[in-house]
Amino acid sequence: MSENEKYDVIIGLEIHVQTNTKSKMFCKCPTGYFQKEPNTHVCPVCLGLPGALPIPNKRAIELCILMGIATHCNIDNEIYFDRKHYFYPDLPKGYQISQYKRAICSNGYIDLSNGNKVEIERIHQEEDVAKSTHHSENGKEYTLIDYNKSGVPLIEIVTKPCIKSASDAKEFASKVRQIARYLGISDADMEKGQMRCEPNISVQEKGKWELKDGKILPIGDYKLNSKVEVKNIGSISAVEKSIEYEVKRLTEEIENGKEIIQQTRGWNAEKGITEFQRSKETADDYRYMPEPDIPVIEVSNEDLERISKEIIELPDEKVKRYMRNWGVSKYAAEVISSTKENARYFESLQEELNKTLDEKESAIEASNWLMGTVYSIANASGKDVSEMNIDLGDLALLILSFKEGVFTKNKAEELLKECIEMDKDISDEINKLKEEKESNSGNLVDIVKGVINSNEKAVEDYKNGKDASIGFLVGKVMQETKGTANPNDVRNILVEELKK
Ligand code: ZN
Ligand code: MN
Repeated sequence: MSENEKYDVIIGLEIHVQTNTKSKMFCKCPTGYFQKEPNTHVCPVCLGLPGALPIPNKRAIELCILMGIATHCNIDNEIYFDRKHYFYPDLPKGYQISQYKRAICSNGYIDLSNGNKVEIERIHQEEDVAKSTHHSENGKEYTLIDYNKSGVPLIEIVTKPCIKSASDAKEFASKVRQIARYLGISDADMEKGQMRCEPNISVQEKGKWELKDGKILPIGDYKLNSKVEVKNIGSISAVEKSIEYEVKRLTEEIENGKEIIQQTRGWNAEKGITEFQRSKETADDYRYMPEPDIPVIEVSNEDLERISKEIIELPDEKVKRYMRNWGVSKYAAEVISSTKENARYFESLQEELNKTLDEKESAIEASNWLMGTVYSIANASGKDVSEMNIDLGDLALLILSFKEGVFTKNKAEELLKECIEMDKDISDEINKLKEEKESNSGNLVDIVKGVINSNEKAVEDYKNGKDASIGFLVGKVMQETKGTANPNDVRNILVEELKK
């Protein structure tokens, strides 16, 4: 029996996302701390000084609710904050203001492309901690703390332990990031720590466990294997890699008869491995208690209606619409809608082409050109499609002119490259080529005759049976016509002329 048939993989994810607000969660300090002088965005509240009173940030709560609506959660009509106690230098109050029993959002889900559903247990509002950095100088080790990050709004998305594979976990994380970006909830830049993923993983024998009310329970006298948590994951691909690594490691340990100790591990991106950090014999005791300084906040139906208006068409819906209405392939639809900017670009190009072509053909042409040419040229020049200065009218003109046979695909790509890399206006050039094509079409035969006369060697080779020489001659004619002639026409005329 293979290991895959013997074991189930059970994964839950906790994702922290910093939300896009101007000020911090409970004070007026600015949030944009990236590359700012340490400890300049601070006040008595986010430094945790005694007696300072927290005042909740309304916009932060709205963004938390927005995430909940976008992921089909129930939204609580009353918001309660709690204190989660633990001692660490990056937490100056000695507790984090978070939510315990009642989270603002609960019982949601995100659908994955393979049809699996990832259930979200809760999304709660909390505050970020400070940033500590560890240094060593002359053999002395010390830690510095920057409180600029302390108190930045944070939402925590907790899934049920219902994710079945590393790739599903990766897709879930990437969908969370997509939704956050589409709706302006967060930039979710993982390199800047704006989004952090922590998977918990266990491996159990098939048929020996069940999931009940979001909890994993053993069947009969089966003893559940402990789960491990992985911290420090700094990219979406590392979510998948770290889980794959752990599943393999855990399966081997179990196969070797070893007992899994409940533990926290760190992801070492350089080595591509997880490393033991600490064992957890009992659940952490955070001594949660209601936050006495913040009264209960009511969420009215009017609030929900207002916040719901910020929901725009999300990638999943876009994919469905592109496929259903326009016949775009699933893969192309997914790539095109992967960012809001790409989707907007595609839709504008479709609209532009639709002035000449029908709706569906416009979408297919737009999708083919973006997927086949534009993205790769843009990538090669290090630009995002949305950052390119290429005028949509120009791009549409290029596509339509190619369809009319004004020039070859190579020529079209060459023009596009110039346009993208040098921010060049190509409409003049396309129009010039169009005119040239028209004047050439009459005398294509003359051009062919000219090329035959000035390339005796190739002509001789061809006549001596070297068929490949025709390609060389076609190339010469194409050069003369600046790529505006149809290579098949040129070949046919050449063959005719060479028979003479
Ligand atoms: Zn502050
Ligand atoms: Mn948290």
